[in-house]
Amino acid sequence: MCVFCKIINGEIPSYKIYETDTVMAFLDISQNTKGHTLVIPKKHIESIFDLDEQTGRDLFEAVVKTTNILKNKLGFKDVNLLNNNGSLAGQVVNHYHIHIIPRYGNDECYFKESPHEANFEELAKLCEKLTK
Ligand code: 5GP
Ligand code: ZN
Repeated sequence: MCVFCKIINGEIPSYKIYETDTVMAFLDISQNTKGHTLVIPKKHIESIFDLDEQTGRDLFEAVVKTTNILKNKLGFKDVNLLNNNGSLAGQVVNHYHIHIIPRYGNDECYFKESPHEANFEELAKLCEKLTK
């Protein structure tokens, strides 16, 4: 059984912020910033590739509610939502989860971006491939 399934069934303790029949939000053990929270489905779903749409709706509703709870109580200004799918994307725990990472400014939390110049011809081809 995976570590988050053990958190859901209580085998591993957690600090729960919000819960419904299908989803749960709890504090991340690593606390990238104060209030860093994970929102997960209660059923074991590995990644976005296995996520059914109803669970996706339940999850995102919980993300909105949990983000507002955190913002009201902690008073941060901005927030990152992060979701890694698969090892190449940095997923370590193979139970679907969305990170809510409050941003306070000067919080020493960095996400590296890789800037690429837009090539409109390539974008047009890509768009055609994706929509036809
Ligand atoms: P990933 O890299 O898979 O997107 O993130 C996994 C997250 O799960 C990490 O931020 C890590 O700190 C968190 N995590 C791993 N094990 C536990 C645990 O036992 N309890 C809690 N609360 N968080 C955990
Ligand atoms: Zn699991």
